[in-house]
Amino acid sequence: MFGEISVAAAEDTAPGLLSIDLGALGRNYETLARHAAPARVAGVVKANAYGLDAAVVAPALHARGCRDFFVAHLGEALALRPLLPEDAALYVLNGLAPGAEARAAAAGVIPVLNCLEQVDGWASLAARLGRDLPALLQLDTGMSRLGLAPEEVEILVADHGRLNGVRLLYVMSHLASADEPESRQNASQLGEMNRLAAAFPGVPLCFANSGGIFLDPAFRGALVRPGIALYGGAPTGGVANPMEPVVRLDLRVIQTRTVPAGARVGYGGAHVAVAPTRLATVAAGYADGIPRHLSGCGALYLGATRLPIVGRVSMDSLTVDISALPEGAVTAGQLLEFIGPHQSLEDIAAAAGTISYEILTRLGSRYQRHHAGAAA
Ligand SMILES: *Cc1c(COP(=O)(O)O)cnc(C)c1O
Repeated sequence: MFGEISVAAAEDTAPGLLSIDLGALGRNYETLARHAAPARVAGVVKANAYGLDAAVVAPALHARGCRDFFVAHLGEALALRPLLPEDAALYVLNGLAPGAEARAAAAGVIPVLNCLEQVDGWASLAARLGRDLPALLQLDTGMSRLGLAPEEVEILVADHGRLNGVRLLYVMSHLASADEPESRQNASQLGEMNRLAAAFPGVPLCFANSGGIFLDPAFRGALVRPGIALYGGAPTGGVANPMEPVVRLDLRVIQTRTVPAGARVGYGGAHVAVAPTRLATVAAGYADGIPRHLSGCGALYLGATRLPIVGRVSMDSLTVDISALPEGAVTAGQLLEFIGPHQSLEDIAAAAGTISYEILTRLGSRYQRHHAGAAA
């Protein structure tokens, strides 16, 4: 009873409705699997599956045949482990902090080893346990972020026995410019990957992210790691997006008003109405992941009608100009489109001067979330 009341209240008072189409997610997985074949396709579900709820997204991907899951932190892997069947492998991209090895091994979580210290930590746990422990080994092929530098690869290879007890499943690296097919950094990283990986004969490669899957097949390796493309984001810049949209976000109107010419709107009085204007105040702001950079330049939509954001985006609200619509077309309680058929993630990211990844991962926890579409 209590539960029902609080759910109903949350639905009325939520800043909006975040709809996640699990059917589209599954079809995107299958599209990537077809495109990347014969490579296996993992699901990158770090940062709560890019803000879309890893506890729902990861099992939905598993139902489509995904058996490899990447997160950034051990904590994310430990939280997901009980929600996935035994046959799912969970990899930790950022590797393990010293002292965390035993917890990871006990949970059956597989680290990406990013430096010699992490190699040593995993190998010494394997020796203590008296059994082999699986791992991925990341090589830095030119991004200078994570992974063994070429000198460290040399040290590791010269030091026979340093990998004793470590069962290398894949040699891995990450592309810095995969969304820009014209970038020469791609070929440079591929060359470096093939050169360094030759030191680990027989160990398959794990290379492409979303963008890399749409480069030459040589970038894929045996296991690819898409994130954004699963969630409907464009894997490649400047060309039509081959993925299906997964996310729709509609924001709730909480008040409407008509203001006279000269009225100031929002913080700082940054917008001044030049004529009598009809306005709607919407219940989501930058605390809900609506970029403050959309102040005075972003928009919401009702059907195909663009409703410009006027004045500054506040923490918990923003204001749109609804003068383009007939009087009475917008009333309190109504939902207006922020992400949807008239405005893609990429449109919003471009207007806000950022990338689709940041828009998705910052969406915040106050929305009513609706996961639609069968998982299987
Ligand atoms: C986040 C991440 C991915 C996924 O990248 P997308 O561009 O979202 O496909 C793959 N690999 C690594 C190492 C990552 O950090």
